[in-house]
Amino acid sequence: MSMRDVKVCLLGESGVGKSSIVMRFVADKFKQALESTIGASFMTKTILVDENTYKFQIWDTAGQEKYRALAPMYYRGSSAAIIVYDVTREASFLAVKGWVNELQRHGPSRIVLAIAGNKCDLEDLREVREKDAQEYAKEIGAIFCETSAMTSVNVAELFQAIARLLPPEDATDSL
Ligand code: GDP
Ligand code: MG
Repeated sequence: MSMRDVKVCLLGESGVGKSSIVMRFVADKFKQALESTIGASFMTKTILVDENTYKFQIWDTAGQEKYRALAPMYYRGSSAAIIVYDVTREASFLAVKGWVNELQRHGPSRIVLAIAGNKCDLEDLREVREKDAQEYAKEIGAIFCETSAMTSVNVAELFQAIARLLPPEDATDSL
């Protein structure tokens, strides 16, 4: 049994559903029109995975996706990052690579990376094949899943998968 604090940040293009994923995970709610959050925001949610307790501190990029200069505020000190794209918008998937590069160059050296293809409930509007995203994620060693904040598919599972991949806590962390 252990209790672990985990900072995780959400990155990705505007409108892909980052805030909706956070709201689904933290409050199990969904709203059609979320107001874009202004300023830094984080929410916490504690879950039990394999008998260990994880207190997630989730940093949602708050409507400032265009201002890349602010991104380090979110990913600095993060144990995990979730890069979100929208399966109905190919451009948002292409942008994932930009975020991966940014994290590899400037992010923490040890970070659990997850890629989430959100809005998988909109199958008729799909522009990104699951297989393509899956292959890319495998290539870079990232967790991958398609999610729907709306219908609640794979949202909790995504955070559980992250918890399971966190490296053992550094001995120095507990000094
Ligand atoms: P953010 O800018 O990345 O934080 O995106 P939001 O969470 O604000 O969501 C943008 C829009 O997409 C909103 O209108 C949401 O209701 C909608 N949305 C978010 N997630 C889903 C989803 O899983 N399915 C569908 N159909 N719509 C979603
Ligand atoms: Mg948002």
